[in-house]
Amino acid sequence: MSNFKETVLEINLAHLSHNFKYLKSKLHPEVKFLSVVKASGYGSDVVPLAKHLEKLGTDYFAVAYVSEGIVLRNAGITTPILVLHPQPVNFAACIEYRLEPNIYSKRILECFTEAAHSHNVQEYPIHIKFNTGLNRLGFIADDIAYIVQQLNTHKVLSVQSILSHLAASEDHKERDFTRQQIEVFKKITATFSATLGYTPIVHQCNTSGILNYPDAHFSMVRSGIGLYGYGNDTTYDVNLKPVATLKSVISQIHELAPGETLGYNRAFKATKKTITATIPIGHADGISRQYGMRKGFVLVHGKRAYITGNVCMDMLMIDITDIPCKEGDEVIFFDAHTGANNMAEHAGTISYELLTAIAPRVKRKVIDEI
Ligand SMILES: *Cc1c(COP(=O)(O)O)cnc(C)c1O
Repeated sequence: MSNFKETVLEINLAHLSHNFKYLKSKLHPEVKFLSVVKASGYGSDVVPLAKHLEKLGTDYFAVAYVSEGIVLRNAGITTPILVLHPQPVNFAACIEYRLEPNIYSKRILECFTEAAHSHNVQEYPIHIKFNTGLNRLGFIADDIAYIVQQLNTHKVLSVQSILSHLAASEDHKERDFTRQQIEVFKKITATFSATLGYTPIVHQCNTSGILNYPDAHFSMVRSGIGLYGYGNDTTYDVNLKPVATLKSVISQIHELAPGETLGYNRAFKATKKTITATIPIGHADGISRQYGMRKGFVLVHGKRAYITGNVCMDMLMIDITDIPCKEGDEVIFFDAHTGANNMAEHAGTISYELLTAIAPRVKRKVIDEI
């Protein structure tokens, strides 16, 4: 019967298109758009997502690892792919699949130069990352002479872009720090281009950078397309539509008399008559135990039902004492209206962690544009 339900993560491509166009509308028409689809498209379903973004006209993709780039190439994606955090052990595969590495240190530059030599490639596209304050990955200004000298000596690599990453572009309290990162990057860009003899693509902004620092778009921006609201959720932009909906179903309803307990370790003890519903999703599906003990909630017929007791591996229980509902009814964890950031906040995390934790065994369902 078609109205039987199960746990499903829905990906709404109409919302993805909307977000892509909305973010593009913030850019000068010359500025390129790189779609960040790491972690299987922020936990969604990377192949249909990337195919849709390719159709919409994204100029670039970025993934974190070489393995993620291979998935895209095997799916027929032909758009250039930047690999943000490649490792030397994967450089052969990187070249085989025409993936473009982010070169962030002397060690990585030397290893990749060697790999390019041994694969007999010419002018292989690479990207040079500078650290301007995040202190995670990247060269510093003092490395520029060394980098350009390496490139000119070996002549097997070609710099497609230079990039840096903002540490707190969503945080208005950190505006001075972000401005400083932008100024440092401008200086680096000028020196690097002058030393190299040409200006590659230049990019620093992520999604909240695009919205909050319009003068720092340079010649490209990078964005997770506001897949779930966006970023650390502190400056959620109402114009971005969350792309993912996580739904499940009520498997069984139980009525607890005062004194009865619920779930493992008898973590919840009823002090009054309590009605609970058991839902087929647990910590092995990505709903962490942190959401238990009434920290997380779901919507049942639009009403908030708290996750009660401990979250189990394959299921969790919610309190539906005041909500008229029946077995087989739908339960919403988050959707376009109640974004993942809302649920995540209650457990002291961010939507990105909640979404990227949704396990592969949760069925993905792509809702096409109509
Ligand atoms: C993840 C990531 C992005 C995308 O950030 P959003 O805030 O999701 O747009 C951009 N650049 C780098 C280097 C990243 O790691």
